[in-house]
Amino acid sequence: MAVRLFSKLKALPSVPATYASAAAAPATLSDFDLQHKTPVIRKQKLIPVAQYGGRHAVSMLPGGGIGPECMGYVRDIFKYIGAPVDFEVVDIDPTIDNDDDVQYAITTIKRNGVGLKGNIETKSEAAYVTSRNVALRNELDMYAYVMNCKSFPGVQTRHKDIDVVIIRQNTEGEYAMLEHESVHGVIESMKVVTASNSERVARFAFEFARRNGRKKVTTVHKANIMKISDGLFLETSRRLAKEYPEIEHNDMIIDNCCMQLVAKPHQFDVMLMTNLYGSIVSNVVCGLIGGAGLLSGRNYGDHYAVFEPGTRNTGTAIAGKNIANPIAMINASIDMLEHLGHHFHADMIRRAVDKTVNVDRIVTPDVGGTASSTDVVQSIMGNIGLDH
Ligand code: ADP
Ligand code: MG
Repeated sequence: MAVRLFSKLKALPSVPATYASAAAAPATLSDFDLQHKTPVIRKQKLIPVAQYGGRHAVSMLPGGGIGPECMGYVRDIFKYIGAPVDFEVVDIDPTIDNDDDVQYAITTIKRNGVGLKGNIETKSEAAYVTSRNVALRNELDMYAYVMNCKSFPGVQTRHKDIDVVIIRQNTEGEYAMLEHESVHGVIESMKVVTASNSERVARFAFEFARRNGRKKVTTVHKANIMKISDGLFLETSRRLAKEYPEIEHNDMIIDNCCMQLVAKPHQFDVMLMTNLYGSIVSNVVCGLIGGAGLLSGRNYGDHYAVFEPGTRNTGTAIAGKNIANPIAMINASIDMLEHLGHHFHADMIRRAVDKTVNVDRIVTPDVGGTASSTDVVQSIMGNIGLDH
């Protein structure tokens, strides 16, 4: 076996220094049975999705910090409007070193197809205990993360009318969690970029742009330094762009991108990037629009979808004080209802949130208001009442 593998390896073409032409070299790797420790595309055994009498079951993972209280608000609102969703709550103990809880959570999401989550903490500093949020995204092969970043007219910010969509590779890149000490005092951390995942997420971005009438996709990268890894990501998006002639495509280096975002954010439409740049850029854009408490983010794979607050914050310091902004989690729950096709209920909550934030201006201190979390939720429920 080892001999066979070796002879196959020898047959591999040498990897070119840069991918001047399309991403040909890594694709040939998939002709072989070699699999990376972090598999490129995790095979899924599909479990039939749970749905009873028109109601959907959804996994709810409150996570740590402000997660549980925000989930409570979502439940109150869903109960109030009679949303056809039953939550299966899975608590994950952040202090435990084994991943039984996480595996159980993953199984319930596979069964339900859909999850709503807060940020799950991983308290252990042991190197072998990996981030639970990352484990969840990887196991469910949710390779694309989408954040709609649209300004709220009722929230005071330097720039008005921002409308950007961030699409982020969600399972590999700098989050491969493959680090080792090669010799004493030298740590190497691997960034893994694959042709197949670069292609999947690029296609996702262009399809998203096409279906949502967006005009432009900007690929964000650092291919001037990471010529091979980011080079592959960039070349893949350039290649796919040719299949979408009606959508303009350009690219921008991550550092310039951050400067352009804070100076002239209106030049951006859909933004496509690798995992870590996605994390940074989504926080930059959240900061521009009003902070961690407003926007929601969506994790998508071919089979499962998980909805959460956009910047994935725990908010440990503000937990239990009735000051956390509940809007991000409520927006995540609206995304989830839409995904399930419950547009009537999604619209009902969205209109109420819009009135509370943008017209009544009942908001928490993080976005310049004086209301408590529960005041905001009460106002939203009151505004739902006006609908009838
Ligand atoms: P922590 O160190 O408390 O976990 P995070 O990294 O989770 O902080 O969050 C970053 C910052 O964003 C913190 O100042 C936190 O208080 C704030 N924040 C996060 N989520 C919210 C929210 N929903 N409402 C108000 N502030 C928030
Ligand atoms: Mg934090």
